[in-house]
Amino acid sequence: VAKNKHIQGAQFYSSEKYNEIRKRATMENELRKAVEHKDFHLLYQPQIDLRTNEMVGVEALIRWENEELGFISPGEFIPIAEEIGVIGQLTEWVLETACLKGKEWQQQGIPPLRIGVNISPYMIGEELVLMVEKTLEKTGLEAKYVDLEITESFMQDPDYAIHILKKLKEIGVRLSIDDFGTGYSSLSNLRKLPVDCLKIDRSFIQEMLEDEGVIVKTILDMANHLKLSVVAEGIETEDQLQFLNTLHCQVGQGYYFSRPVAEVPVTSRFLSKG
Ligand code: C2E
Ligand code: MG
Ligand code: MG
Ligand code: MG
Repeated sequence: VAKNKHIQGAQFYSSEKYNEIRKRATMENELRKAVEHKDFHLLYQPQIDLRTNEMVGVEALIRWENEELGFISPGEFIPIAEEIGVIGQLTEWVLETACLKGKEWQQQGIPPLRIGVNISPYMIGEELVLMVEKTLEKTGLEAKYVDLEITESFMQDPDYAIHILKKLKEIGVRLSIDDFGTGYSSLSNLRKLPVDCLKIDRSFIQEMLEDEGVIVKTILDMANHLKLSVVAEGIETEDQLQFLNTLHCQVGQGYYFSRPVAEVPVTSRFLSKG
C-alpha cells in the first residue's frame, strides 16, 4: 500500500512537472513565431506634469496575445525572450513601432510627446547604439523625443554601461533609470551615469503614505542635487498624488491618470480626475 501511494505521488508530481515543461516549450516556440511575425502591439501610458496637468510623454508597453496561450504579460515573456535570444529583434520592433507612432502623433498636430521605450539590460551594447541610430533615421523622429528606460541591473559592468550610455547620449536620446531604488547601483556610480531621469519604482509610491515618504523624499532630494528629473511610477490614488505634489515631484504616471492605452488623447492637456 505504501509503495502504491509513493508511485501515485510520483506520477502526480511528474505530470505536473511535465505540463510545466510543455507549457514552457510551447511558450518559447510561440514567442519565436511571434517575434518573426511581429505579432505584438504596443500600448502607451501617459506621463503627466504634476504641476500643469499636461501630458509630457508616454511609456510604450508591449502586449502579446497568443491563440493558444492567451494573454501573457511582458513580465513573463520578456525574460524568456532574453533567454532564447530574440530580445534584439523584439526591441527593434518596439523601438521602430514607438518611433513611428510618435511621428504619426506629431503629424496629427498633437504637441510633441516624449516616448519611453523599455530596454532590456541585455541590450546594453554597440548593437543597441546602431539600432537606435538606424531607427531614428528610418522613422524620421527626432532623437530628443525618445526616452530609453533602463533598469539598474545593467550596472553589473558599470564602466562598459557608462561607455554605451555616453554613445546613446551623443545620439541625443534621453535616458531614464527604470524602477529606481530596487536595483543595486551605488550612489557613486549614479553620479557618473549620463542619465537624465530617475523613475521611482512603484513599490515606493505604494508604501509612501505609510512611511511618511522617507524613501521618495530621499530620492527626490538626491535627484535635485544631481540635477536629474524624476517620474513617480504607479500613482493610483488622489492621496498619493497630493502627497507627491507637496514633495514637488515633477512628473507622474499611473492608473490614477490612465492605464496604458492604444491611442493617447488628442490634446496634451490631460483631464485628470482631480
Ligand atoms: P515597467 O517598465 O516598470 O512598466 C511599468 C509597469 O507598471 C507596466 O506593466 C504598467 O502597466 C504598470 N503600471 C503602470 N501604472 C500602474 C499603476 O498605477 N499600478 C500598477 N499596479 N501598475 C501600473 P506591464 O505593461 O505589465 O510591464 C511590466 C514590465 O515589463 C515593465 O515594467 C518592463 O520592465 C517590461 N516591459 C514592458 N514592455 C516592454 C518592452 O517593450 N520591452 C522590454 N524590454 N520590456 C518591457
Ligand atoms: Mg519602464
Ligand atoms: Mg518601472
Ligand atoms: Mg519593471
